[in-house]
Amino acid sequence: MDVTEQAEVARVRPHTTIDTGNVVEDLMTNETRYPVAKDGSQTDTKGTVACGSCAIPLQLGRWERWNGFLVECPSCGCLHGKSRALRNVAMAGLLFNVLSFWFLMRPKSALLWTLVFGSWVLGGVLLLPKRPSDATMLLFVGFLLLGPVVVSVVSAARHESLLFKPAHSST
Ligand SMILES: [Zn+2]
Repeated sequence: MDVTEQAEVARVRPHTTIDTGNVVEDLMTNETRYPVAKDGSQTDTKGTVACGSCAIPLQLGRWERWNGFLVECPSCGCLHGKSRALRNVAMAGLLFNVLSFWFLMRPKSALLWTLVFGSWVLGGVLLLPKRPSDATMLLFVGFLLLGPVVVSVVSAARHESLLFKPAHSST
């Protein structure tokens, strides 16, 4: 499939409340599909959050609500979520490394990125010579320390750019 075909698939695919698409497909389509939140007007207000665009109550899962993952509003079709301060995201990435993924991304994406960095460690353990040169060691450790920061910040920047915007562009 080329890029336009993928975009078409992503556009016409019916949305479900739980995203069950596979990881590779999400990566290829740049994860443009987000779960549609349930309208919470009929439910207890305690578990709901007002849509950032049209203010109708959205019923979200607790983990979703805490972390502010993007969801599509069933009423106005905009993406709702919590705003993320990139500086804090970068700090969390430095302090918590791959753990920070689990608070920024849905579990599937967090797992995937954790595996990427896990493979880096495993690859290093298996492939690095017993006494690696300083430059090799610097590259190995540097990637491990800074890689998660970069991934977290890019993910959060993307989140910010989509927040409160229509989930589907009309073009
Ligand atoms: Zn809305």
